[in-house]
Amino acid sequence: MIKLLRYLIGGGITIDLSWILNGRKRKDKMIDDSKITEHLSKSEVRCRCDRCKNVDGLGLGGELMSFSEKTAELFEKIRGMVSLFADCDTPITINSAFRCREHNAETPDASPNSNHMKGIALDLKLPDNISIGDFHWIAEKIMSGNGGLGFYPWGVHIDSGTPRVWNTKAERKA
Ligand SMILES: [Zn+2]
Ligand SMILES: [Zn+2]
Repeated sequence: MIKLLRYLIGGGITIDLSWILNGRKRKDKMIDDSKITEHLSKSEVRCRCDRCKNVDGLGLGGELMSFSEKTAELFEKIRGMVSLFADCDTPITINSAFRCREHNAETPDASPNSNHMKGIALDLKLPDNISIGDFHWIAEKIMSGNGGLGFYPWGVHIDSGTPRVWNTKAERKA
């Protein structure tokens, strides 16, 4: 085999050897395993700090090896309804997802027991092409009875934990 490769390379023939060297890797790439759901990737849910990067590239610091499927599905539902409202496919930026203990501790106003540390929470940034009122309304409809929902001027916090709502309409500024 080596002799054959030397012969081919020596002859100036360029061949892609990656499939021989990384057969398994190549196969994994064909199934896009970087995605959790259609519009949510593993890189989007990793911790935003640089201290807890680990081998799987998720930045989970050895504390957590997965992300909540339910939260990801709730995100997809919100994204879908936002796209319907905006009448065009509307990506939603993830402001914060998984947080390691250290990063959570340094995040302003974060609860010490935040669901962000459990990998079940997402902070969704208000997209440009929808009003904050509509965004909050959509999140409220989708999240009703399904988990935690926090209303913020920058968007919403959602999680698949105990159903509850904070920063409710009465407290929100118009
Ligand atoms: Zn971290
Ligand atoms: Zn949050």
